[in-house]
Amino acid sequence: TTEVRALEVRGLTAGYGAMAVIHDVTLSVGHGEIVGLLGRNGAGKTTTLMAIAGFLGRCEGEVKVDDVRLRGPAYKRSRGQVGIVLEGRSVFPSLTVANNLELAGADRDEALELFPELRPKLALRAGVLSGGEQQMLALARTVCRHPAVMLIDELSFGLAPTVCERLLARLRHVAETTRVGVLLVEQGIHYAASVADRVLIMNEGLIRAEMPGAELAEREDEIERIYLGGL
Ligand code: ATP
Repeated sequence: TTEVRALEVRGLTAGYGAMAVIHDVTLSVGHGEIVGLLGRNGAGKTTTLMAIAGFLGRCEGEVKVDDVRLRGPAYKRSRGQVGIVLEGRSVFPSLTVANNLELAGADRDEALELFPELRPKLALRAGVLSGGEQQMLALARTVCRHPAVMLIDELSFGLAPTVCERLLARLRHVAETTRVGVLLVEQGIHYAASVADRVLIMNEGLIRAEMPGAELAEREDEIERIYLGGL
């Protein structure tokens, strides 16, 4: 199709120093689409996000956002069309929720519309929020700068299952209403299956399989055994 993709990555090879960790990674994310990136520990998921974001010096291949090729270091990319939410909560714990939003340059009204749970917490320091609320704040900070695509690493990390389910449902809603494309690294195969439109499975730095989230939900055990088990 001729539809412009929020994110288009072609032949991305990247790593640390002279060593390549991911090889010839090709993927795309549509507007409003959530694409899950699954793989066992060390498969290269975080490295893929880092390479797309421009954090890795050595990188071959092409990254396009809204059909515009990205070049240069991360700070230029993240200020513009690429939003990044890293594992371990990208918030300032000693600042209030309101200040966290302000500092991100987020539109506060929009943030509260997308994440109404944050409204009663505006005057609290972010550090006293629950893990799930901190993740919501991290998402709000990023999405309210209107990136074309968001790169999210392990949103579910350390959260209770019910909290995680609520957070992912919120992310689904955000993708649908703002049309942001989401590339979501996720360890939990069950979470990935439930939230992602499409899932990519990475193994030893290569994308080995791709399927709709609904298919993954049906083939969870098999996929887990083939690609995710062990280690
Ligand atoms: P996890 O789920 O455990 O975070 P991952 O799929 O995100 O795994 P990466 O973090 O991308 O995997 O790591 C892929 C490989 O790159 C691993 O072998 C790791 O040891 C290596 N690696 C990661 N970061 C660095 C670094 N800063 N310097 C050198 N090697 C690294």
